[in-house]
Amino acid sequence: MQNPYRALPSIDRLLRHPALTAARDRFPADHLTRHARAALDRARAALASAPAAPPPDDDALAAAVVATAEAAAAAPLRPLINATGVILHTNLGRAPLSAATRAAMARAGQGYSNLEFDLAAGERGSRFVHLDPLLREVTGAEAGIIVNNNAAAVLLALAALAPAREVLVSRGEAVEIGGGFRIPDVLRQSGATLVEVGTTNRTRAADYRDAATARTAVLLRVHASNFRIVGFTEAPTLAELRAVADEAGLLLLDDLGSGALLDTTAYGLAAEPRVQDSVRAGADVVLFSGDKLLGGPQAGIIVGGRAPLERLQRHPLARALRADKTAIAGLAATLQHYLRGEAEREIPVWRMISAHPDALRQRAAAWRDALAHPALTVREARSTVGGGSLPGETLPTWALAIAGGATAGGAMAGDAMAGGATDVGRLAQSLRCADPPVVGRIEKDTLWLDPRTVDPEEDAALITALRTALAAQA
Ligand SMILES: *Cc1c(COP(=O)(O)O)cnc(C)c1O
Repeated sequence: MQNPYRALPSIDRLLRHPALTAARDRFPADHLTRHARAALDRARAALASAPAAPPPDDDALAAAVVATAEAAAAAPLRPLINATGVILHTNLGRAPLSAATRAAMARAGQGYSNLEFDLAAGERGSRFVHLDPLLREVTGAEAGIIVNNNAAAVLLALAALAPAREVLVSRGEAVEIGGGFRIPDVLRQSGATLVEVGTTNRTRAADYRDAATARTAVLLRVHASNFRIVGFTEAPTLAELRAVADEAGLLLLDDLGSGALLDTTAYGLAAEPRVQDSVRAGADVVLFSGDKLLGGPQAGIIVGGRAPLERLQRHPLARALRADKTAIAGLAATLQHYLRGEAEREIPVWRMISAHPDALRQRAAAWRDALAHPALTVREARSTVGGGSLPGETLPTWALAIAGGATAGGAMAGDAMAGGATDVGRLAQSLRCADPPVVGRIEKDTLWLDPRTVDPEEDAALITALRTALAAQA
């Protein structure tokens, strides 16, 4: 029997294939050679395990080389259409940015800036000065800085303000926020010692007072951002904690998580604590994220008294946790929307929160009408804010619903398909493989596409993706 490997081309013959010579203007020769070798290795391995199978021809091998060479050089982050109705979806990149924010970040990335340069003095400056005036304006605090994210902000604040000292935290607040951010672990990493006070459901001001010793430096309040304890609960107000902190000579830190600058109750949501209120109630340091309800780029924002914030800036960790120039420029642009009173109009997160159900119903109906497919209906649903804010809170919406084929009679999806019904898992997968991908939500064997989190400019792409996905089901 003839050696089946003999049917495979040499590396040189493969590289001379027209598909690969054509690819040479897009990729350097060594990149193509590496992927050609790998394709031949794979073909040899396939022949070794199945000698009777016909070997791939040169055209198939060349196409495989181009495909893997392209994939290796492709941009890893794919822009996608979020039709889940979860506004701050951490897995999908949290807050989409305003046009002005995107432009400011692009400008900062494009060239040089006075990031750490004092133009008036002609000397080295600090990157921490840039956001101070804006943060003071919008929050009422004495000073403000940013670091890489809020987890970094909490770590830095504890490391700088409670080194080798005790930090009082309510037992109900020594929690995991998500993505592995656990308050007890962060405290340990900062070098501070966690002292839990009260109980999981009830903690009183007196519990903090009783736990304070000469070794205690900080009283930390942590907002329960991604869960809710309901029923027999009690927690002291920030004003009560301020009184305890004054009595015991402690610094009062408030980790708001999301925090908000606007009043969420004006949109039919529960009250998310506002940064301004924490500042007014006397927190020494208030910490919150840039990319949650603020609606800006990823950042950890720290506002409060000038003295504690200077200690944070001087700590060696500040250098390790610093924000980059595009985040500083972008956050400034987002904060300016608040200062100008245009946040609801310009910041996508607030546009989505304030979208009227009637307008959403019209968009879902326009999607349905454009597709004219019998499986599509427009139904009432709920959007969520998500992203570690307002747990359990929803907003009324109208979504495009595609009901699945599994019937009450217990038919298998395959049987239902034969009856012309829809396999929602397969449909959702086709949508995720579209370009751009479309991500929906499956609930009760129905695929829901919620217009609240879809930019109207993405409507045409969503309709095209859904048309193709539905056709593939037939
Ligand atoms: C989300 C959150 C954090 C972490 O913020 P990131 O910006 O994601 O690092 C910390 N604390 C609380 C209470 C949070 O909700």
